Amino acid sequence: MLVTGVVQGVGFRPFVYALARELGLSGEVGNTPAGVVAEVEGSDAAVAAFARRVLSDAPPLAVVSTVTEEYVSPVGGTEFVILDSTGGPGRTLVAPDVATCADCLAEFADPSDRRYRHPFISCTNCGPRFTIITGLPYDRPATTMAGFPLCPDCAREYADPDDRRFHAQPIACPACGPRLQLVQPGLETEYDEDALAVAHGLLVNGGILAVKGLGGFHLVCDAGDQAVVTTLRKRKDRGDKPFAVMAADLDAARRIAWIDAAEEELLTGIQHPIVLLRRKAGAAVAEAVAPGNPDLGVMLPYTPIHQLLFDQPGPCVLVMTSGNLSGEPIVTDDDEALSRLVGLADAWLGHDRPIHVPCDDSVVRIVDKIELPVRRSRGYAPFPIDLPVPVRPALAVGGDLKNTFCLGDGQYAWLSAHVGDMDDLATLEAFERAEQHLEELTGVRPEVLVTDKHPSYRSRQWAQLNAAGRPVIGVQHHHAHVASVMAEHRHQGDVIGFAFDGTGYGDDGAVWGGEVLLADYDGFERVAHLKYVPLPGGDAGVRNPCRMALSHLWAAGLAWDPRLPSVRACAKAELQLLWAQLERDIACAPTSSMGRLFDAVSSLAGVCHRAGYEAQAAIELEGLASEDRGAYEFAITGEEIDPAPVLAGVVRDVLAGVEPGVVSARFHRALAEVMVTLAERVRAGRGLSTVALSGGVFVNRVLLSATTAALAAAGFTVLRHRRVPATDAGLALGQLAVAARVRS
Ligand SMILES: [Zn+2]
Ligand SMILES: [Zn+2]
Ligand SMILES: [Zn+2]
Repeated sequence: MLVTGVVQGVGFRPFVYALARELGLSGEVGNTPAGVVAEVEGSDAAVAAFARRVLSDAPPLAVVSTVTEEYVSPVGGTEFVILDSTGGPGRTLVAPDVATCADCLAEFADPSDRRYRHPFISCTNCGPRFTIITGLPYDRPATTMAGFPLCPDCAREYADPDDRRFHAQPIACPACGPRLQLVQPGLETEYDEDALAVAHGLLVNGGILAVKGLGGFHLVCDAGDQAVVTTLRKRKDRGDKPFAVMAADLDAARRIAWIDAAEEELLTGIQHPIVLLRRKAGAAVAEAVAPGNPDLGVMLPYTPIHQLLFDQPGPCVLVMTSGNLSGEPIVTDDDEALSRLVGLADAWLGHDRPIHVPCDDSVVRIVDKIELPVRRSRGYAPFPIDLPVPVRPALAVGGDLKNTFCLGDGQYAWLSAHVGDMDDLATLEAFERAEQHLEELTGVRPEVLVTDKHPSYRSRQWAQLNAAGRPVIGVQHHHAHVASVMAEHRHQGDVIGFAFDGTGYGDDGAVWGGEVLLADYDGFERVAHLKYVPLPGGDAGVRNPCRMALSHLWAAGLAWDPRLPSVRACAKAELQLLWAQLERDIACAPTSSMGRLFDAVSSLAGVCHRAGYEAQAAIELEGLASEDRGAYEFAITGEEIDPAPVLAGVVRDVLAGVEPGVVSARFHRALAEVMVTLAERVRAGRGLSTVALSGGVFVNRVLLSATTAALAAAGFTVLRHRRVPATDAGLALGQLAVAARVRS
């Protein structure tokens, strides 16, 4: 039997060994470049049970792609043995980092266990992987645990096929493992339990602690303490962007947020991502944690060090935000943390197990009981995505916002962990390091580079600079979005693609973002788009939703009524300047951006006029949406989706004193309804009935849920993101599928 997939370094051989022995089978199991190969011998019933349970009972980290069975002649063996790995070229799929498992937690809490309260407890099923692997083959010397030789007790466990730490590379114990240390400026460094005691005291007393996690440092403080959270916000230069929190356990999480069964499963699963949850009224979380946001990003402790932060009386909910200044990559190195986080943290809780590559926390939202990844990073990367079409060895560099990149070869694509916004040198360097590391782990040697078509994207410039004679292929932004959701669903054939986002470079040079594309992997036809309006001043227009509102009013021929919140939000000089800018067409790029339409409506409804972080106006508008069943109405003229009647309806309602939540609901419904109308037109004309939804706008739960329901009710099959983000963080997968596909 040959088993392929993520089956190496995840405890697959010991699992096969235990299963065979339980069923009374003899034979052997080994790692080969092709995958895990097992030969078993015994009764027909036992062999059949073995074949079934290899799939159904596989270890939690394993992802089985294929199982091939073949009959071989019995050899009359009596034993079952684990063979040494046979080397040679091949593809090992490296597992992601995994939250501490229940077995380890039980030992961790047992005073008689030799790993009682050990900050680095791990086993075959849990602990760091991706972030500590420096090369292949995956063996202790090729990890950042290389500097910690196993003590005799650990070595015995490592060598024993019956032990749950058999061949687990990151294992350690208090005798041989890394040590915790606490550094405070001007004071002696503390170690182990002393380090913890000082760290804990600091949290209780309103301090800010830098804590080394799996993929980087976090900045940590008491989430219930408005003063310290406000201080952290100022120090990080964070604007109003929400902080994530870590709750001590599920009960503590339930006290601050509503958690359904799907969300509970996600919070407690092997990945332990940040889950965006509905905040409970009166939750004991400072307003400064997520100002103006109805959601809270919540996660549970996923390393032993996190467990230790909560095991003394003290805060049950901690702010846990990535250790960096806003926009910069997360800090991973202890020395670097001391210098780069100076002025941000009061003390540093670190250790001497190096982090080889950074990996930010993943963020997931549940919509209609289905996962919607917002950031796919720790716990997911570098799990491969199996492709619907084989690809050449290629690197797709993604986009410039929320960058991730993607390596592909044959049937697999490896989407990187979150890299960040490519607007500073540090992020560009982080991109290069992450790219080299992923090449190292996957063995992919790209023969072609794929980029966005935006001429000034740094990701594209990087590819052109580093092409070394290899072809560089550009893929239109929204085509890549649609291809991304198609690829993760392994979809073949044409779709009606809705690509709604803030910004993407259009083939006509305009800023696209409200696009309806008839698409497959080969190409696309732009069948409809939001009508162009001026984007006054580029980035300035993005940062100031009130200006976008006024631009939309201007384009729709609607008056700037001084009673409107957007007009009131602007000083007289700003209004005059904007009017002149629009009338004379100065620095006004045409845009069909759906994100900007959300900004405009958010401002008109009086919700948000100045955006301190990306999509703030849209997020706050969504958060307010009521249960109102009314809807505004878009006009469709040829290929243009005209929002003028929607804006007229919004203005009418706002001037009549209608609540912002009702305006929000009616706007969301209008969008869902016009999408059904457009999809029906394409279906009537082209006979297509599969709809693909992608782009950052579809992180919006209200819109995604309403749209999916309305399209399904109209008889469409709906493809929406469930494995990679709908935002530009999923772009690279689509780029790869479009440009590196092997044409048959
Ligand atoms: Zn474990
Ligand atoms: Zn040990
Ligand atoms: Zn986009």
